Amino acid sequence: MAGVEVKDSCIICNTSSANFCDRCKSIRYCSKACQRADWPTHKLLCKAFSNFDTTKRPSKNHFRAIFFPVDKEKPELIWLHCPWRDDEEDGWYQHPDKKPFLGVDVFASTTSIQRNRILERDLSDTINLCYSDSFLVDGSRPNRSIAAITATKPYRSLDWRGPILAYGKEGLGIDQIACKDLDLNDFRHVADLLISYSLDPVPVNRQLSQLRQKSVGEKIKGVRINCIGDQKMCGRPKFEAVEIAQPDPIFSYGDVSEIMKRVELPIITQHCRPDPKWANNENYKAFEGMSPFNNQDATYLHLCCDPNADLKLQMGKLGWGFAPLKWQDGVGSVIVVRQDKKPLFPLHMEAMCKYCRYDASDLIRHSLGEYAPEKPMEKGDVLTMICRPAFVIFWYKLLDERRKKGEDSSAPYPYYDV
Ligand SMILES: [Zn+2]
Ligand SMILES: [Zn+2]
Repeated sequence: MAGVEVKDSCIICNTSSANFCDRCKSIRYCSKACQRADWPTHKLLCKAFSNFDTTKRPSKNHFRAIFFPVDKEKPELIWLHCPWRDDEEDGWYQHPDKKPFLGVDVFASTTSIQRNRILERDLSDTINLCYSDSFLVDGSRPNRSIAAITATKPYRSLDWRGPILAYGKEGLGIDQIACKDLDLNDFRHVADLLISYSLDPVPVNRQLSQLRQKSVGEKIKGVRINCIGDQKMCGRPKFEAVEIAQPDPIFSYGDVSEIMKRVELPIITQHCRPDPKWANNENYKAFEGMSPFNNQDATYLHLCCDPNADLKLQMGKLGWGFAPLKWQDGVGSVIVVRQDKKPLFPLHMEAMCKYCRYDASDLIRHSLGEYAPEKPMEKGDVLTMICRPAFVIFWYKLLDERRKKGEDSSAPYPYYDV
C-alpha cells in the first residue's frame, strides 16, 4: 500500500510481509535490492541496535532515542529521560531533558517529522529532531555523525552543525503527549530528512510515483555533467555515465529543464556535493579566471521558457530567457536523469546541452532583441521553434559531425517511443 506506513512492510518500497534484518530485527526488507539501498545508512546503527539492551531501561520515563554527536563518526542510541510535565496551557505531557546532549535547552529548535518526503509515505507516529536554531552562525562545528549519513547521497545537503537529537512521540497532530522508543525505521526517516532538508520539493504527478513504486531497486542510467573543478582537478570527463539507485531524492526534488520538456525529453537535474579536493581551494587562477564551480552547460539547460515569467529576485527567478539564480553561479557538477527513468547516455546529454546552449538560447536571445536592428521574435514563435523536430535535426547533425571527426557516435536514439 503506497502512501502510508504499514507495520510489516519493507522500509524502502513499502511492500508488505517483508523480512527482518537478520542482525537488528528492527527493520524489514522485501529483497536484497531494498536491503542494499538502505545499507549505507542502516549499517551505522544496525549493530548498535542489536547490542542495545532494553532490559536496562533506567526508568519507565526513559526512551530509546538517537543522538548525533558532533565529533563521532556514527550516530548513537541513547536513553533519553522524558519526565512528565504539567503545563497550564498544554496539560500533562512528557518533556525530554535534552540538556545532557544538546548542552542548552532554551535555544533548541524542533522539526517534527510525520512524513518521509523521499519515500513518499506518511508515518504513524512523530519523530522530533532537535538542534540549536543558530547552528550555522553560532560557531558550532560541522556534525561528523550526520556527515556520515549525508555522504551516502551525492547531493549538497544542509551543513548540519552542532549536536542534534532525535526522539519519538506517540501519534501525529501537533500536541502529542507521550514519548516513545525510536527504532531503525525511524532512523531511515530521520536520515532522509537530514539528506533532503535543503532541497526544494517539486510537485510530482501520481503517474510518476506509480512508475517509481514498480522500479524500486533497479539502477537508473544517468549522466553527471562535471563542472570545471571536477574536470581539471579530478580528471573527470565533461559528460560522465553514472548509475542512480532508487528511490532517490533526485526524482522528488530535482529541477526539470523546461527546454528539454518542450522537445519531449524531460530530464531532472540536481546539484552534486562539491569535491573537498578542490572545493576549499580559493586559488582560481588555474582555471583561467573561471570559478571551479562553473558549469555553463548546466546553466543553459535551465533557461526559463515561460513567456509569462516575471523577475522575482527574492525567489531567485530572473524571468524569460534566464536561468534561475541557483543555476547561474557556483553550480558545480550536476546529476541528470530522464523523468521517464529510461537510460540517459553521455552522448544524449552532450546533445541536450549543446542544443540548449547554441540553438535554443539563440532563439531566446533573438526575442530579447540581441539581433537588433532585426525586430525581436515573439516569445510564442520562439517556443514553437523549440520542439521535437528541431532537436531531432540537431541530434543527427551532431552525430554527423562526430563521425567526420572520427569520434564515437554510438548511442541509442534518444526517443525510445519510435
Ligand atoms: Zn522493498
Ligand atoms: Zn539491521
